[in-house]
Amino acid sequence: MFVTVETAARTAPATVIVAIDGPSGTGKSSTSKAVAAKLGLSYLDTGAQYRAITWWMLSNGIDVQDGAAVATASAKPVIVSGTDPAAPTISVDGADAAGPIRTQQVTAAVSAVSAVPEVRARLTELQRTIASSAERGIVVEGRDIGTTVLPDADLKIFLTASPEARAARRSGELTGKEAADLASTREALVKRDAADSGRKTSPLAKAGDAVEVDTTELTLDQVIECVVTLIEEKQSA
Ligand code: C5P
Repeated sequence: MFVTVETAARTAPATVIVAIDGPSGTGKSSTSKAVAAKLGLSYLDTGAQYRAITWWMLSNGIDVQDGAAVATASAKPVIVSGTDPAAPTISVDGADAAGPIRTQQVTAAVSAVSAVPEVRARLTELQRTIASSAERGIVVEGRDIGTTVLPDADLKIFLTASPEARAARRSGELTGKEAADLASTREALVKRDAADSGRKTSPLAKAGDAVEVDTTELTLDQVIECVVTLIEEKQSA
């Protein structure tokens, strides 16, 4: 009888919820996707959702600096996130938004839109629904996942890196017309982080119980390995 109970507990599929937060360019997306793929978990990029709602606002002629107008419109766009880490998707009103959400125009406007409490309330609810329906568990990345969206996450990670390292990584991701020099990329990142950290509603912040990982001197593989080890340690604890 005792043996049966113990065996059942050991073989029961463990659900694990992992929150990965941090400023832009710290490797959150690459790390989160790879960790989720390695461990057979779902993956959610909440930044893509904030970008998607921003793209919708810009496409529909809403003044993104007008908080009241953004709040009124915030319930309208239908945002759907696909959570397969090998091929994450994002759509707005049925249209694929993966490309348009990465333009400079959206990047420059997203902090203003994401500071609007109605936008945050709507996306937080959507994120919690997605996380609770992930069968084996999920890696959710963003700015306020450990503090606000999933405060009971099994593991919280806060990734950091020097502004120079973050700017170098980010400019490496940009191509063609979008490519900016290092100094202006650094300036744009610092400005966005300041806006994200300074807003009233769930700012970018490290949760008190998050593990901080400074990725400045680490390769992507080392960061992935570090996070996988932390998850496995949690699961076997
Ligand atoms: O992660 P990414 O750089 O794509 O996020 C874009 C923007 O979305 C951030 O600069 C921030 O303004 C907003 N964001 C947020 N809360 C999250 C995720 C992203 O406010 N959980």
